[in-house]
Formats: sequence, structure tokens, C-alpha cells
Amino acid sequence: MPELAQAIDILSTLVGFDTTSRGSNLALIEWVERYLDGLSIPHRRVPNAEGTKSNLVATIGPQVEGGVVLSGHTDVVPVDGQPWTSDPFTVVERDRRLYGRGTCDMKGFIALALAAAPEIAAADPRKPVHLAFSYDEEIGCLGAPAMIEMIRRELPAPALVVVGEPTDMEAVSGHKGIATFHVTVTGREAHSSQTQQGVSANMAAIRLMATLVEISERLEREADPASPFTPKGATLTIGVIHGGTAHNILARRCEFQFDLRSPPGLDLEAALAGFFAEAVALDRQIKARAPEGGVAVNRHSNVPAFAPEPDGAAEAFARRLAGDNGPSRVVSYAAEAGQFQRAGFSTVLCGPGSISQAHQPDEYVEVSQVERGLAFMRRLTEWAAAGA
Ligand SMILES: [Zn+2]
Repeated sequence: MPELAQAIDILSTLVGFDTTSRGSNLALIEWVERYLDGLSIPHRRVPNAEGTKSNLVATIGPQVEGGVVLSGHTDVVPVDGQPWTSDPFTVVERDRRLYGRGTCDMKGFIALALAAAPEIAAADPRKPVHLAFSYDEEIGCLGAPAMIEMIRRELPAPALVVVGEPTDMEAVSGHKGIATFHVTVTGREAHSSQTQQGVSANMAAIRLMATLVEISERLEREADPASPFTPKGATLTIGVIHGGTAHNILARRCEFQFDLRSPPGLDLEAALAGFFAEAVALDRQIKARAPEGGVAVNRHSNVPAFAPEPDGAAEAFARRLAGDNGPSRVVSYAAEAGQFQRAGFSTVLCGPGSISQAHQPDEYVEVSQVERGLAFMRRLTEWAAAGA
């Protein structure tokens, strides 16, 4: 079993790379590649189109079917404006807690997998353990699809996937999906006393946003009372609004962003049909008075929900390794598990730390969580060695 100190050492190294999603993750990827090279573990990149970021896939053990994928995202959310009491990119231990950006979400799980890699490799495994590390999870799970497609096409079919999001090392079998939209309304500027000469982008945008408010209220009313999620139904919120420059100028531009978080089974297109129809109608109305104007709706991300699997192989596996006999659980945040599941893999969420510490200033993971994670990895090593 890898030493606790070794896992913490790797975690400290990973946290030391500032992999905020707006920047590159390549320095971290290069470090992981060198570490794997030292263990003679083969790996390959699945980069983005610009070559500025990359996923990494590695296989410990034989290239045969029936392996387990350990998946984690390498990027972290920004620390800008957050009141940290210590450097977010240096792991500091206080009161049996390890502080630092990403300690919980979710470099902790990646550190556990890497700390276990030498033991798994040395166990002469009959079944492979694949590592799958992604980028741009925090800005809409944008990196994982190409990596999942590569795994599906090129690796001998794995039996299941463990996505190590923070779940207190308990098996979680469902999450909501998320679709994110950026809307830009363009009108024509004029003196606000001369409304016949221009088009206020703000006034048009407010009509669109009113439609969204109606939809959000309807979704709340129509939530399935038996839903295991909290809140039970889909939620729609407008997170950002920017519009206009002065009270006495008709606004030329108004932009807003909204997201729709939905439990498995919601038909997104149907739920938003009223909004899309309103956007088309307003676009036509604006163009009739200001041909340079209009409404642009841009879908920024669309992460599928992760549905509990009847007799799910991945959930049973994670429960066995984590010693988890508790009730079935789902979470309301979105993650990459829905993408793996949609590609045909039995999937479970299970990783160290609590989601309530994620994205926070002074993010931390409990040392006891890292210890539980190490026990999980020790049982994983035994499983790989036995091949069952
Ligand atoms: Zn995460």
C-alpha cells in the first residue's frame, strides 16, 4: 500500500501546477508523463485542437478487456477574489486537513491513483487499470468527450469507470446534467427620447428572460415528486446580465447567460422550446427595424445527466472497494460521469473530499479522506492482481 506521505507528496506537486481552466494544463501533464515513464507505464495524450491543453490516458497492466478506468479532471476553478489564508497553490496541512486549490476537486483522487500506480504495476495485474485525466471539466466538461471516444475506440473494452469527484469516498450513482447558454441581443443606439430611431437591446432581452423565468417556474411545478435529487426537478437560472451604457441611451447590446440543470430523462429541446421560439420571433422583429441587430443564442456546453443504473456494475464495484453499504445517492452538480455513461460505460462517482469544500476559498481535503482513498486503491490493486 502506498504510504500516506507519498500520496500527499504527489498531491502537493499536482496542486503546485496552476491548472485554472483558462490556462494550460500541459506542465502538469508533462510531470505525470515523466512519473509514468519512471514506472514503464505507457501513456498517450488526447490534446485539444490548438495543442494548448491535453487529456492523458495510461494503462497499468495488460491490454485486455475488463479493466477499470480511474478518471479525473486536471483543471481547477479560479482563486480570483477569494480570501485564502495561505497560498492556494501550495499544500499546507493544518488540523489533519490539506489546504490548496484542487486538493478536493479533484487532484486528491488523481494523486491517489498515481500513488497506487507503482503497487498496481508491481502486482503483475491480470486486469488493467486505466488512468484517464481530462482538461476543461470546470468550464463545461469540454475536454472529456474526445478522451472518452479514444477509450471507446482504441482500448480493450473496460468493464467500468470510476470518476473521482469529491463524494466523501462513497458511491454516487447519479448526477444532473447541465446545458449553458450565452445570449446576445443587438439593437440600435439612439437618444432615449427618440425611441422611433432605435431598438433597445435591453427591452428585448428582458422579454426573453421573462420567458426563461416562466420556464423555470414550470419546471419546478412539474418536478417528479419521487425524484432523488435536491432540488427534485430541473433548475434554470440566469447567472449573468450585461446591457446598455446609460439610462438615456437605447442599449445597443445586452448579453446574458443562463444554465439549465436537469435530472436524467428531461427533454432539453422541449423544455426550452418556448424560449427558442421567442428568440426567433424577437430576432425577426429587431431586424425589421434595425437590420444589423438581432438575437444570437449560443449553446456553450451540454453535459448529459448521469442516471442510476439498475444493478450497476460500477456502483457495486465502488461500494465493495470503499466498504460502502449505505443508501443509494445522487448529486445535483454535473460531472463527466454522464458522458462516460452515454458512451456505454457502467460508471460511478467516488472520490475523496466533500463537494461542500470544492470551489471554496481555503479548499481542503481531510487527511482521513486520503487514507480512505488509499484503502480503496489497495483493494483495487488486489482486484487487479486477482483479475476478479
Ligand atoms: Zn470536479
